[in-house]
Amino acid sequence: MNILDIINKFPNQESCIKFLEEIRWNNKPKCLFCFSEKVNSVLKESRYKCKKCHKSFSVTAQTIFHHTRVPLQKWFILIVLMANAKKKFIIISSFKRLKFTFSNCMKNDA
Ligand SMILES: [Zn+2]
Repeated sequence: MNILDIINKFPNQESCIKFLEEIRWNNKPKCLFCFSEKVNSVLKESRYKCKKCHKSFSVTAQTIFHHTRVPLQKWFILIVLMANAKKKFIIISSFKRLKFTFSNCMKNDA
């Protein structure tokens, strides 16, 4: 898989979220706190709310994408670049090209 594959397969945030939901939950969201499968979708926020414990969560919670401000498509591109990189300098220049820094990847209010 290369960058063009990622851009074509994941053209927006929604397609990335749908992919993560498929691989994490097999498209059957499960509460991250009590593991109940009885959840309501909060589509506007791409989140779920558990009917049992009433906590809300998203597919990115408790993952490397948790609290990121960077669009998931950029993360996916970076992961492909890292997977395909043969030398470390390629990864470093990829971070620079995508304007990745720790501070701009994370929310301040986490
Ligand atoms: Zn729950």
